[in-house]
Amino acid sequence: MKIIFASNNNNKIREIRHVLGGSFTLLSLNDIKMDEDIAENEATLEGNALQKARHIFRITGMNVFADDTGLEVEALNGQPGVHSARFAGDAKDSDANIIKLLDLMNDSINRNARFRTVIALILEGKEYLFEGNVNGRIIREKRGREGFGYDPVFIPEGKSRTFAEMDLNEKNRISHRARAFEKLKSFLADHMENQ
Ligand code: IMP
Repeated sequence: MKIIFASNNNNKIREIRHVLGGSFTLLSLNDIKMDEDIAENEATLEGNALQKARHIFRITGMNVFADDTGLEVEALNGQPGVHSARFAGDAKDSDANIIKLLDLMNDSINRNARFRTVIALILEGKEYLFEGNVNGRIIREKRGREGFGYDPVFIPEGKSRTFAEMDLNEKNRISHRARAFEKLKSFLADHMENQ
């Protein structure tokens, strides 16, 4: 079965190819010769993921999925959430985002946070949503050099190291994105079995 992943992020494409295994032909936006930036201007992760998937479905009529992720911090009422990438401005600068986050959290005792990934799938014209979360806490200074985004200040529940102190395999075993992709994978596997 052919399915488009509405992304040009090579890391994510590699990650999802690994999770989905050989039963699907996964096409990226590059593969279908679309290199435009798809709008993501909805107020929720669900809205953004659906917006991207619907855009590609309208153009291609093919099965497609899209994802959107945010870091939701309890003491900041769920911020930066859907604004995670551009929290400190359009440059999408991770260091600046972290500085702003730590500044806003200041001396907050409540350090609880979670990463949340939403995947919107359009399969044979029908829409489905999948979600993956990882709970954790925000520390007061950066630790580690792996990963990206907010990884250096996020310690997942039950662990003592930040995501940026873990190698990719270890992070991928427990990450929000891996959990959401696993749900998508089981759904697609069931769907194929019932055909
Ligand atoms: P996207 O929807 O995957 O592009 O993620 C939006 C933003 O959330 C990214 O630009 C990062 O700032 C942040 N983010 C997403 N996933 C992760 C992660 O696994 N670790 C750290 N930050 C992340």
